[in-house]
Amino acid sequence: MADSKSNKRKCSFCGRPENEVGFLITGMNGFICESCSEQAYEITQEALGQNKKAKGGNTKLNLTDLPKPIDIKSHLDQYVIGQNDAKRFLSVSVYNHYKRLLQHDNGDDVEIEKSNIIMVGSTGTGKTLLARTIAKLLHVPFTIVDATVLTEAGYVGEDIESILTRLLQVADYNTAEAEQGIVFIDEIDKIARKSDNPSITRDVSGEGVQQGLLKLLEGSVVNVPPQGGRKHPDQKMIPVNTKNILFICGGAFDGIEKKIAQRLNTHVVGYSAVQKTTQIDKTNMMQYIAPQDLKSFGLIPEIIGRLPVLTYLNPLDRDALRAILTEPKNSIIKQYIKLFEMDNIQLTFEEPVYDYIVDKAVEYKLGARGLRSIVETIMMDVMFEIPSQDKKEYNVTLDYAKKQLEKANLARLQTA
Ligand code: ADP
Repeated sequence: MADSKSNKRKCSFCGRPENEVGFLITGMNGFICESCSEQAYEITQEALGQNKKAKGGNTKLNLTDLPKPIDIKSHLDQYVIGQNDAKRFLSVSVYNHYKRLLQHDNGDDVEIEKSNIIMVGSTGTGKTLLARTIAKLLHVPFTIVDATVLTEAGYVGEDIESILTRLLQVADYNTAEAEQGIVFIDEIDKIARKSDNPSITRDVSGEGVQQGLLKLLEGSVVNVPPQGGRKHPDQKMIPVNTKNILFICGGAFDGIEKKIAQRLNTHVVGYSAVQKTTQIDKTNMMQYIAPQDLKSFGLIPEIIGRLPVLTYLNPLDRDALRAILTEPKNSIIKQYIKLFEMDNIQLTFEEPVYDYIVDKAVEYKLGARGLRSIVETIMMDVMFEIPSQDKKEYNVTLDYAKKQLEKANLARLQTA
């Protein structure tokens, strides 16, 4: 018979003959079909996860080595300029997050609830940098997701659950570890509903996504597609409990200053006595942000309630930009010096070059992100030529920096 030979080969695990399976993998004394090998893989992953848990997956965490809020802040100080309030809020929240994880049930019924955080501040003021820097210090899984890609289930885009897929991926699919992780949700303001009034018509991009997000923030068991993206009907879901996951949200909330000002103005009428004693700094309204401003901007009250720690970032002034250029541990200038060092070239800058770079960043409203583009523009020709020359040092003069920037059209960087 034609297929008698193939029928002899069968999966040593499920017993199905070769012609009934996709393919067989041949071993020394037997075979395994694709579905049994898939199952074997899952069993192995589960066993490895439990093993880690049994060994105390989080042995790295213990109360004595826990970085104290002051330690966390001084770590942040090495990389992020200014933003003291945000640093303090973040340090305390992260410290408390750790403490909650280490909390032992001593029967006193006091359960510490988590305090998710929301950071409000213009784009390019250091929100993501703060989150990333804190992540380096942590011994828990950490991921950054962008709220703009999220949509309500059933619409084009990524389901809310995909946030947890990323966390699972960084935790190597160890659910127990992922359940203690930290998620930074960037651009949370982009899912605000378009007006403060609950809409009569459906607001696909805004409110629905916020409702979905609420489920995660509140703490619930969510079925997560292991590979992310759209849900697939026969994809095996992984249940993840979000009760102990700390969510840090960030957003620019463009135009929120107006809402803050409006609120403060109405206050002036009602509480004129109090207002007289506190001068309002109109150049930085962000510092007066309150939960009701987020509501006026279009976040639903339930979400605001789940983000009890509200903090802000200051706009970066000239001095801050100047400091950002050279002071952080991995400042832009230090990075270029290191790049040259790798070619055994000692790179130096004339002091006025730094002020010139900052002037240009201010003039073209490029912010902190623009500093890098400016330095890159100045250095491009040198970086092209010098590795092939026999030079041991290179000094960037003010004249050279000016010449390079004048040659390039800086205005093109403005949209970057
Ligand atoms: P945001 O998330 O607020 O839009 P980022 O944190 O992504 O802004 O900042 C963009 C870049 O600008 C950072 O990678 C960093 O190089 C620089 N930067 C911004 N703010 C600061 C700051 N306060 N201290 C140091 N560098 C900063």
